[in-house]
Amino acid sequence: MFKDGETGDEVVGVQWHTVSPQYTSRTCSNCSYQDKLNCNGDIFKCLRCGHREDADIVGAKNILRRFIEESIVPLPARPVLVVE
Ligand SMILES: [Zn+2]
Repeated sequence: MFKDGETGDEVVGVQWHTVSPQYTSRTCSNCSYQDKLNCNGDIFKCLRCGHREDADIVGAKNILRRFIEESIVPLPARPVLVVE
């Protein structure tokens, strides 16, 4: 999508959020249990819950989850009217 050294910052109107892929291939997308033994080649099998799936799909799900969790900006606190 981008050439070396390009980050996409020059694209106007698009907000970027970078997600670290660290441990996403060894973390269960079902129960979040993390162990390097969960992943054996192309197959992911959770040692805790037994969830089994293609390892690439598990990694993609975890990256998406991480993106959603990290990119959500909390709404500012709104004043609340209290009538006593
Ligand atoms: Zn699991």
